[in-house]
Amino acid sequence: MTIAFDNSWVRDLPGTFLSVQPAPAPAPRLLVFNRTLAGSLGLDPDALEAMAAEVFSGNRLPEGADPVAQAYAGHQFGGFSPQLGDGRALLMGEVIAPDGRRFDIHLKGSGRTPFARGGDGKAAVGPMLREYLMGEAMAALGIPTTRALAVVATGASVLRETELPGAVLARVAASHIRVGSFQFFAARGDHAQVKRLADYTIARHDPDLLGADNPYLALFDAVIARQARLIAQWMGVGFIHGVMNTDNMALSGETIDYGPCAFMEGYAPGTVFSSIDHGGRYAYANQPLILGWNLARLAEALLPLFDTDQDRAVDKANAALEGIAARYRAEWVAVMRAKLGLAGAEDGDGALADGLLAAMEGQGADWTLTFRRLADAVGGDATGIAPLFGNPSRLLDWLPRWQARLAPDAEARIRAANPAVIPRNHKVEEALNAATAGDMDPFHALLAAVTRPYDAAEPYMLPAPQGFGPHVTFCGT
Ligand code: AMP
Ligand code: MG
Ligand code: MG
Repeated sequence: MTIAFDNSWVRDLPGTFLSVQPAPAPAPRLLVFNRTLAGSLGLDPDALEAMAAEVFSGNRLPEGADPVAQAYAGHQFGGFSPQLGDGRALLMGEVIAPDGRRFDIHLKGSGRTPFARGGDGKAAVGPMLREYLMGEAMAALGIPTTRALAVVATGASVLRETELPGAVLARVAASHIRVGSFQFFAARGDHAQVKRLADYTIARHDPDLLGADNPYLALFDAVIARQARLIAQWMGVGFIHGVMNTDNMALSGETIDYGPCAFMEGYAPGTVFSSIDHGGRYAYANQPLILGWNLARLAEALLPLFDTDQDRAVDKANAALEGIAARYRAEWVAVMRAKLGLAGAEDGDGALADGLLAAMEGQGADWTLTFRRLADAVGGDATGIAPLFGNPSRLLDWLPRWQARLAPDAEARIRAANPAVIPRNHKVEEALNAATAGDMDPFHALLAAVTRPYDAAEPYMLPAPQGFGPHVTFCGT
C-alpha cells in the first residue's frame, strides 16, 4: 500500500525546516500498532501494519514522504533558547482523513538532525511506549492530544544511564505548530516568516477566521480558547504535563510532547513528578498560570501582526491576555460541574468545587477515586468515599451542600464524567520495565484498561502501594 502524503508544510513554508533523511535501523521490530487510529485516518490497517516496522523505523521511505526537521525556539523553564527544533524527530508529511481533517505523520527517535546539538537523535523503548500509552489514555478521556500510530524497536541500543533498547514513535498530530515555532522567527526579527506561519495556521486550524476584521488577533483568541479548555481538562483528570515549555504548547490545542508527564494520585496542588523541575514551575496547580505565561510569549511573537502601531498592538495583546484567567476559570467550572454531576449552572458552582478541593487537601485523598466514588454518595452514603480521606470531617460538611445541587441522573453522569482507570504511575512503570526487558504483555493489558477508562478494572484502579514511594519521572530519553 502507499500512504497518500501531502506536504503542505514543505510547499507553503520554505525556510522553516531542513530536509533530513531518517537514520536506518539495524533490526526493526513492530512493538505496538494502532489499528483504530490507522483506520480513522483512512489508511488500510492490515497493509500498514505489514510494512509498519520498515516504514516507521525510517528504513523505507514511503512514496510521497518528504521528511523535514522543523525549526522552533522555546522558553524552557523560563529561559529562552532561540534555537531548538526537531533534534531527533521528522515530519514525514501529512495525511488527509476521510472526514477532511489534515494530520501530520511524524517520527520521533529517527536519528540526529542539524538541530540535535549534543543529542544522539535517538529515543528508548520505554519513553516512546510511555508517549503511546499516555496519548491513548488522554484520547480515551476525551482530551485533545497527539496520538501514536506505532512504536518500532530499532534493534540499536541507546546510551543513557545504562544501555537501553532504541525505538521510534510514529506520531499523529493535528499539526506541530508550537508557540516556539513563532518565537523562532520573531527572535530573528523575521516578521514576514511569522506572518506566513500565522497565515498557514489560520488556513489549517481556523479557516473561518479568514474574513475576520483582524484575523491574527482572532487567531490568538482562538488559541486562548483552545488552550484554556485543554488545561481545564488536564486539571479535571489530575494530569501534570511536567514540561510546559513554550516549544511544547501547540496552537492546535492538542496535548503534545509526553515526556515526564504523570497523573496525580493523592490531591496536592504542589505535586511535581519531573526530576528536572526543581522549582516546581510546572506543578499541578501552576499549570493554569503557565498557560497565561506561555500565551504572553505567543502574543509577543505575534505583536506586529496585531496592529501596525506598536502601542495599539500592545493594548490589544494585553486586553486578550487579561481575559485568560476568567476564561480558564469558566472552563474549569464547566469541567467540575460535569464531574460533580450538577444540575444546570449556578453562580456558586465554582465555590462548591473549590470546597471539595479544600476538603481533599492534606488528606491524601486520591484524585481519581474521590470523584469516581461521589457516584456512590449521591444518596448520602459516604462509606465509600470517606475512607479515602485522612480526616473526612470537611468532606462530610461539604456533601450536603453538593447534594442540594445534584442533577436527577447524577449517579450515571458522575460515572460517565469521572474515569475509574487512569495510567497510574506504578502500573506504567511496571509495564515499561517489562517492555524494556522484552515482555510486552503488561503494556498491552494496561493499554486496554486505560483506553476504556470509564469501565472498572480492578488492578488498575488502585493507588500505588505504600512501598512505591514518591514517583519521579524523567524526560528527553
Ligand atoms: P523535549 O524536552 O523532548 O521537548 O525536547 C527539547 C529539545 O531537545 C528539542 O529541540 C528536541 O528535539 C531536543 N532533543 C531531545 N532529546 C534529544 C536527543 N536525544 N537527540 C537530539 N535532540 C534531542
Ligand atoms: Mg518538545
Ligand atoms: Mg520531545
